[in-house]
Amino acid sequence: MKDTYDVIVIGGGISGLSAAKLLAKEGLNVIVLEAQDRVGGRTHTIRNKEVQYVDVGGAYVGPAQNRLLRMAKELGVETYKVYLNGHLLQHTKGKSYKFQGAFPPTYNPLVLLDYNNFMRSMDHWASEIPADAPWKAPHAKDWDNMSVRAFIDKVCWTRAGRRFAELIVNLVVTAETQQVSTLWFLWCVRIGGGTARMFSIDNGAQERKFVGGSGQISEKIMARLQDRVKLERPVIRLDQSGEVVIVETLNHEVYQSKFVISAIPPVLTTKIHFNPELPSVRNQLIHRLPMGSVIKCMVYYKEAFWRKMGCCGCMMIQDEDTPIGFTLDDTKPDGSAPAIVGFILSRKASLFANLSKEERKRKICEYYAKVMGTEEALHPVHYEEKDWCKEQYSGGCYAAYFPPGIMTQFGSVIRKPVGKLYFAGTETATEWSGYMEGAIEAGERAAREVIGLSRGAARKKISQEKRNNIIQVIDRGPSAKKIAKLLHVSALIV
Ligand SMILES: Cc1cc2nc3c(=O)[nH]c(=O)nc-3n(C[C@H](O)[C@H](O)[C@H](O)COP(=O)(O)OP(=O)(O)OC[C@H]3O[C@@H](n4cnc5c(N)ncnc54)[C@H](O)[C@@H]3O)c2cc1C
Repeated sequence: MKDTYDVIVIGGGISGLSAAKLLAKEGLNVIVLEAQDRVGGRTHTIRNKEVQYVDVGGAYVGPAQNRLLRMAKELGVETYKVYLNGHLLQHTKGKSYKFQGAFPPTYNPLVLLDYNNFMRSMDHWASEIPADAPWKAPHAKDWDNMSVRAFIDKVCWTRAGRRFAELIVNLVVTAETQQVSTLWFLWCVRIGGGTARMFSIDNGAQERKFVGGSGQISEKIMARLQDRVKLERPVIRLDQSGEVVIVETLNHEVYQSKFVISAIPPVLTTKIHFNPELPSVRNQLIHRLPMGSVIKCMVYYKEAFWRKMGCCGCMMIQDEDTPIGFTLDDTKPDGSAPAIVGFILSRKASLFANLSKEERKRKICEYYAKVMGTEEALHPVHYEEKDWCKEQYSGGCYAAYFPPGIMTQFGSVIRKPVGKLYFAGTETATEWSGYMEGAIEAGERAAREVIGLSRGAARKKISQEKRNNIIQVIDRGPSAKKIAKLLHVSALIV
């Protein structure tokens, strides 16, 4: 007879591991089935002698991401501030401009007003969207049917304003403005603490990184859970037709449990065979949530020459032929391994995916040389990159997005359990969805749902047993039936 676990968690990313950590702490018998030969999922810290360590996936953490900061502290992972001394650079129509502050420089006061109005409009509209039920917003249907491109056209007055808005959207959700729903995008803004928190480096979501890399969060949770985490176990089948849930992996191992938590991106559940079939709205939802597109690229140099030029390494590049849209300094906090990290976003990730790694590196360096106006950028000492679009156990990154019309028609079932199957993963969060913070929130919420049910079931079992015992004792005496009936009532009162 096989062991019956209390809970099987599918997916060893931050969300699944946070769920398992809490479940184990509460004394439940839990295992995590992870498809890959490593934990961390969309966070991945690569280590080698050239870079020491580098996050090729999720990396940044900021104020108000309290669960992630709390988890890091508990696990002994420290943070450091991203280097931000000096000018930022904007590159548009072949020219570079130095600037400081929230918005790129402009001589036209109308453009400045436009930038500001775009941000304020997003915050204003977003404020009426409920964090846990965006489909219930007063204008939910209208805004869901509107693409973010249409929203930008409605709100922005100038071409410069529209170009700026487009880059912000590409950067934040790694998708095109015409591909995403206004309702969903503004909901992301709302649950990310508003535009200032979400888009800023200083005092915002990109303020800090983890010393040693974000991958340590998952690695350290795995070390605590020990052999409860099983690697190289892609789940392919989930059967809820019996009393316990049967879960089968690609290598044909079969596990059984009382509950299951799915902590993988919604679209990846289409790779699992369900018996009975998923309810119709959930089944359709998982076919309608595509993942974003991004290639993260790190170029290493002998020295951080941009710092000598008074630049902080942050570049906003708006020209269509550039691979990279946005960069930051990625030098280690002690000044070693000087580097610039850049993001190839959305349509450009598809476009530049066809080049070889060497060609991408060359193109990126050529553009950095153009933007910073120095040949030094042409001479990297090392290069790392990760194309998340080809990761079969992510399906793309940073996260899933809702195309127009999907949230109001299908969105309300995103966290709704299906029998004994519960849902975690950053996409199901109600704060910082799409971020590591959201992954923890969702994992711990799903764990609590299951803990609540387990405790409820345990309480029910105990009172049933108590009741049976009393009735058994009485059964031995005279007038058993009558007294047992009487005590049955009093046992319930106890
Ligand atoms: C380039 C990039 C930059 C990012 N930047 C940031 C950032 O700066 N800050 C931030 O907070 N977030 C960032 N993110 C997003 C962040 O990394 C994710 O939101 C978060 O890691 C998601 O965690 P998760 O546990 O919900 O999902 P995942 O990390 O995707 O975990 C799911 C796990 O399930 C596994 N799996 C999939 N299918 C199966 C299956 N069938 N059976 C078993 N296992 C399966 C996967 O291998 C994976 O390990 C970034 C992501 C990327 C890629």
